[in-house]
Amino acid sequence: MNTKYEAPPYRIKMVESIRKTTKEERKTLLENAGYNPFSLKSEDVYIDLLTDSGTGAMSQEQWAALMRGDEAYAGSRSFYRLEGVVKHITGYDYFMPAHQGRGAEQVVIPNLVNEDKNIVISNIHFDTTRAHVEIAGARAIDCVIEEAYDTQNYHPFKGNFDIDKLKTLLETHDGHVAGVILTITNNSAGGQPVSMKNMQEVSRIVKDKGIPVLIDGARYAENAFFVKEREDAYKDKTILEIAREAFSYADIFLMSAKKDGLVNMGGIIAIKDDEALFQKCQTRIVPMEGFPTYGGMSGRDMDALAVGLEEALDSHYLRHRIDQARYLGDRLRDAGVPVQYPIGGHAVFVDVAKILPDIPFDQFPAQSFTNALYIESGVRAVEIGSFLMGRDPDTLENIQSSLEFMRLTLPRRTYTYKHLDHVAEGVIQVFRNRKQLKGLRLTYEPPVLRHFTAKLEPIE
Ligand SMILES: *Cc1c(COP(=O)(O)O)cnc(C)c1O
Repeated sequence: MNTKYEAPPYRIKMVESIRKTTKEERKTLLENAGYNPFSLKSEDVYIDLLTDSGTGAMSQEQWAALMRGDEAYAGSRSFYRLEGVVKHITGYDYFMPAHQGRGAEQVVIPNLVNEDKNIVISNIHFDTTRAHVEIAGARAIDCVIEEAYDTQNYHPFKGNFDIDKLKTLLETHDGHVAGVILTITNNSAGGQPVSMKNMQEVSRIVKDKGIPVLIDGARYAENAFFVKEREDAYKDKTILEIAREAFSYADIFLMSAKKDGLVNMGGIIAIKDDEALFQKCQTRIVPMEGFPTYGGMSGRDMDALAVGLEEALDSHYLRHRIDQARYLGDRLRDAGVPVQYPIGGHAVFVDVAKILPDIPFDQFPAQSFTNALYIESGVRAVEIGSFLMGRDPDTLENIQSSLEFMRLTLPRRTYTYKHLDHVAEGVIQVFRNRKQLKGLRLTYEPPVLRHFTAKLEPIE
């Protein structure tokens, strides 16, 4: 049967109650949270679309796998089970767990960067990846195609590298590039995929120069689904086959397992064949994350991840997951709400710069919309724009983000299409009343990563 939006390939065995509040209550709750939804208590949120990171539901097989966890400090059975799955999916020789994605980054990136090799290039660096590149003393340069920044025009692979720009960057910084990172899917551009052809080309150009290629693959399975759907040569291949081909174009795989690992906590480091690099990472992981056979994860969590990695490769699961995002995106588009199009894998990104052109970037239009959505509907979204960008470390001026997004991020296997109707109706209502929205000013601001804890107030 061919349906437009795939029904879930699972049924519900256990439920978690969520609480509805009144609009009056939410006004007070948001004021007390300093007009920053990060400071809301989750029990005061009806539908939580803050992030898809570690917020999904585990399957009965994963809960059962927890019971098999071997908590041995060294050489646990759970480690070997997880290692087997990671090697099978990636085709790589070496594996280490990490406590989450940024744990993997802090172990690997400083082993690639040095005084001479001080440039890292990615389609768009994820925030924590950029932070680890910079902490290691290198510069992080983004190199995505221009189409990524044009939310209204269709492009099947808005996560792609701009190949000409990459060639120029490699020439300009000849001899100084420490690594090139394929972020799949490209989170910051709207969960947008990278085509296999693009990965292949990047790999060919970069490896010619002896530079390592990394996959930052928190959502590599979602990326493989888009490749299957949109690249003709892959339509009859399995998700596993597509993923393995993608891994073949890289040397190192870093993953936040909180996404396509279908677990609440965990990370992965896998290295194709560079034994010397693996040994350097082993040395570094002990003081940073833990002994190399647990790397910050408990045995039971490694077992749940081993199962989750396999489940995330199921094409019915992926189709339903991505259809949920499309369903929400299509409902908003039908009502005239501008969103990053096509809809990406894990979220709908509302283009608030187009909705609130009169609120200047340093009054945080997307944060204002996000706050109004919470008051209207009890839905928590997140700002991905100038509020998140923070300030220039030298001039201390607010940096203007190229896009002012409100991200509606879908946890995996958690909400139904009916929940998404509630979300859509809330967004559409705020969109219709957009003339009433006001900018915000900061009343408290920490020096780095301000969006997590800053406080704001509406400008009357
Ligand atoms: C989430 C994410 C990370 C960081 O992972 P954490 O588990 O949050 O530390 C890195 N890269 C990408 C693309 C991500 O989405």
